[in-house]
Amino acid sequence: MRDVETMAGGHNHCEIRITDMRVPGSQMLGGRGEGHLLGQARLGPARLAHCMRWIGQAETALEMLVSRAIERYSHGSYLAEKQGIQWMMADSAMELYAAKLMVLHAAYKIENGLPFRQEVSFAKHHVANTLWRVIDRAVQVHGALGYSTDTPLANMLKQARFARLADGADEIHQMTIAKNVISAYKETGSVRSR
Ligand SMILES: Cc1cc2nc3c(=O)[nH]c(=O)nc-3n(C[C@H](O)[C@H](O)[C@H](O)COP(=O)(O)OP(=O)(O)OC[C@H]3O[C@@H](n4cnc5c(N)ncnc54)[C@H](O)[C@@H]3O)c2cc1C
Repeated sequence: MRDVETMAGGHNHCEIRITDMRVPGSQMLGGRGEGHLLGQARLGPARLAHCMRWIGQAETALEMLVSRAIERYSHGSYLAEKQGIQWMMADSAMELYAAKLMVLHAAYKIENGLPFRQEVSFAKHHVANTLWRVIDRAVQVHGALGYSTDTPLANMLKQARFARLADGADEIHQMTIAKNVISAYKETGSVRSR
């Protein structure tokens, strides 16, 4: 076993080699050949649990962005009074709001036994990318301070990068979403998910 060091440190992400293992039929979970299906059933809710933590992180980053912008005076006004900075706040607030609604809706579908694959992919991709963008904007508004390790932002940014890879890289979710959109259109003439 090797605990793989990541750009954000070691977190027990291990490579494990399994050799000559035999599992008796009585110990099998689900049916033969259905392991991937079982994994997918677990991954839907698990991806939303990631999203909930990422929303918390993104909200903290936006709070830090606003806090810095209202106290830092530069080039004749507070940062919060500059339109370029306000747009960063507005984009972050809108993306965060959409992130919350997407997670709520996907959770509603899972809870009510409705098909949820498309909505979970929407949410996972959107929240992972929102997290990255909001923390990056917070770093930008903090200037050199944001790049330093004097605030938690540098560490948050490094942690956030994994969100676009783990539990399906961005492109895999985009591929799934596109496949669902195409098949919905072919079957119903609409791109709405069922
Ligand atoms: C910190 C961390 C924690 C993780 N935790 C888990 C976990 O708990 N459970 C788990 O199952 N996995 C976990 N993963 C694994 C993660 O899901 C995989 O790393 C991810 O699916 C990418 O697979 P790969 O690393 O083999 O990259 P590859 O398959 O080699 O892909 C590399 C890149 O190629 C691109 N790519 C790949 N396929 C396509 C395609 N079809 N179309 C377009 N572009 C494509 C993507 O940009 C992708 O990032 C974790 C990864 C990290 C970094």
